Amino acid sequence: MRKIDLIVIHCSATREGNSYTAHDLERDHRLRGFSGIGYHYYIRINGEIINTRPIEKMGAHAKGYNQHSIGICYEGGLDTYGKPKDTRTAPQKHSLQVVISELLARFAQCRVCGHRDLSPDLNGNGEIEEKEWVKVCPCFEVQRSR
Ligand SMILES: [Zn+2]
Repeated sequence: MRKIDLIVIHCSATREGNSYTAHDLERDHRLRGFSGIGYHYYIRINGEIINTRPIEKMGAHAKGYNQHSIGICYEGGLDTYGKPKDTRTAPQKHSLQVVISELLARFAQCRVCGHRDLSPDLNGNGEIEEKEWVKVCPCFEVQRSR
């Protein structure tokens, strides 16, 4: 088993009201040259949890952090106009908690963060601020919502 000390949360950047299946995700990631879905878990709008890649296998979801992390993506993240929004449904929030707690039970030393929290700390103050975000994914504050 590879060393795992980080769990990264993502959104699929899907507009509210639209559906984006694991099949769509797989097709798009293969088009980007990945060997299947880059995330380890995908959480649908209805809360369904899909294990999209064995956690033993390195993911393709957070540049520079893939080797020692697990990637979890939820379906959504954009409002109907395409603007970033925390679109997580109650079942999705619950499923996220379930997956994260199971992983934390197995990998106790894990830090949990959002994709955007891995942006470079440009001013070196030890905090990744909104103006430093390379992208807004996963469109909610992971630390505060846990
Ligand atoms: Zn992301």
